[in-house]
Amino acid sequence: MRIVLQPIGYVEDYLIEEICERMYLLNFKVDCRFKRKVISPCELKGFDGKEFVSFELLDPLYEIVKGEDFDFYTGLTNYAIYVPGGQTVYGIVKKYDGRGVAMISLYRLRQGAGKKSLLLNRAVKEFIHEFGHYLGLGHCRGLLCVMNSSGSLAGVDLKNPLFCPVCLTKIYIEQMKKWFSCFLRKNLKIRRYLMSIEALKGS
Ligand SMILES: [Zn+2]
Ligand SMILES: [Zn+2]
Repeated sequence: MRIVLQPIGYVEDYLIEEICERMYLLNFKVDCRFKRKVISPCELKGFDGKEFVSFELLDPLYEIVKGEDFDFYTGLTNYAIYVPGGQTVYGIVKKYDGRGVAMISLYRLRQGAGKKSLLLNRAVKEFIHEFGHYLGLGHCRGLLCVMNSSGSLAGVDLKNPLFCPVCLTKIYIEQMKKWFSCFLRKNLKIRRYLMSIEALKGS
């Protein structure tokens, strides 16, 4: 699984580097890279000079990065992201042909985070949360599970940067299903190939 982290506008280097280093929390093998080159927020739709105002910003982000080698691409920004209805969100994610593109906003996560470590912990949890959505997980009722929806920062601080056993099992079942359907498809191709050889022999 290839993951790329990308600053959208100015983002402190340590945040991106440390999130990459904490990928071991995901519990499975990933290859994480981060970019120092910043994408300007003005390149993305829905940016009014101060904040992102739309879900549509993921489409232009995907257009910019789609030629790159990744499974899950995450932009990190200090700007706020608003969804219809006027609420700010911590992050959004969307799938494009099986690949995931997410955007995480540090705007609200910074509130009351005097220490670097607190902001980092919150950002890591938000990253893993969006990654969980990419893997097919919905929200979890477990208050300590990273997939809890946690509207408040107190909720974000309470939960762990980990999938609970129920969510982890769901991920493994989804992965097994994908692996199995891929195996069946390959098997079918091999069977068709062998049958065509047999037919040639018979003719
Ligand atoms: Zn969520
Ligand atoms: Zn859970």
